[in-house]
Amino acid sequence: MTISRSSLLGGLAIDVTFDAPVGAMTWYGIGGRADILVSPHTDAAVIELVSRCRAQDVPLRILGGGANLLVDDSGIDGIVVKLDNEHFRRVRYSAGGAIGAAQIGAGADLFRLVQDTKRRGLTGFEMMAGIPGTLGGAVRMNAGGAWGEISDRLRTITHLSLDGEVRHLDAAAMGFRYRGSDLPPGVILECTLELDEDDPIAVAERVKDIFQQKRASQPMADQSAGCTFRNPTDPETGDRISAGELIDKAGLKGCRIGGAIVSDQHANFIVSEPGASATDIRRLINHVRDTVADRRGITLDPEVVIWSRGGRA
Ligand SMILES: Cc1cc2nc3c(=O)[nH]c(=O)nc-3n(C[C@H](O)[C@H](O)[C@H](O)COP(=O)(O)OP(=O)(O)OC[C@H]3O[C@@H](n4cnc5c(N)ncnc54)[C@H](O)[C@@H]3O)c2cc1C
Repeated sequence: MTISRSSLLGGLAIDVTFDAPVGAMTWYGIGGRADILVSPHTDAAVIELVSRCRAQDVPLRILGGGANLLVDDSGIDGIVVKLDNEHFRRVRYSAGGAIGAAQIGAGADLFRLVQDTKRRGLTGFEMMAGIPGTLGGAVRMNAGGAWGEISDRLRTITHLSLDGEVRHLDAAAMGFRYRGSDLPPGVILECTLELDEDDPIAVAERVKDIFQQKRASQPMADQSAGCTFRNPTDPETGDRISAGELIDKAGLKGCRIGGAIVSDQHANFIVSEPGASATDIRRLINHVRDTVADRRGITLDPEVVIWSRGGRA
């Protein structure tokens, strides 16, 4: 596809990088480059860009912190948008006068939000301790775990549809569920969260406790995209089964393809060694999925988002 760069990008309040190393910007730190990476300065610039992409049939993908993402070695066509301008990282506490209400741009960093809320003595965000990424990525994935999910505290979402329409969505009506929701495709611009006041020391203790438990059970220092697969549902009981346990019982801990390895610490993490390629990771994901399907009759569904040239995300 030939993209007319000036008709797509001209006159907008954006920073543009051509042939940008987006794979290297993910937590895996591997994979190919994006033809065009755009960092908008304003909501109006994103809205106009989305409309132009739609009119010119140019694929558009949103990059958060890249903590749940694998970029194919062949790279990415179309446009990758990263909401890393200060405008999208803004945080306003006590929004509308309510102490616990926080109005937060989608590009805000989760680690920073955990630290900020802790310092302010606000409880409700501790469940995100140890989860890397941005607020927008967390909402898209409904990130969380044993201590809760982001949707537990989410109240509204300012959402830009791929038709260019901005709507303020009531999070309670968006069907949030385990690592998913009915949120339509598009760009999450901003969210409001409802937190409660608490003793900052008590909040800090809980954050520390959650972080330590994660560090003990997950390979947090290695390069990965977190859990590779969603926990499947037991067809008989309807309960969630641990994907990590299924992979472990299939004897796959330590299994390696090239520089991709099933973590010895947590079997649902596929970690990468220096020199690994995205193809190594993809081949190992397929091998794990096929082996578990053969042995247990359960087909695991990847939680990791995979971007490839020609694909739509
Ligand atoms: C060490 C480690 C531990 C982890 N632990 C956990 C865990 O305990 N629980 C958990 O749930 N996850 C975990 N993860 C995965 C990851 O941290 C979360 O999924 C996180 O929410 C991803 O956010 P991100 O901004 O990095 O999204 P990205 O990886 O950049 O993107 C993920 C998806 O969200 C979309 N997206 C991003 N921003 C926006 C936006 N503004 N609007 C619309 N779509 C958007 C992307 O297009 C993509 O489809 C872990 C990852 C690592 C590396």
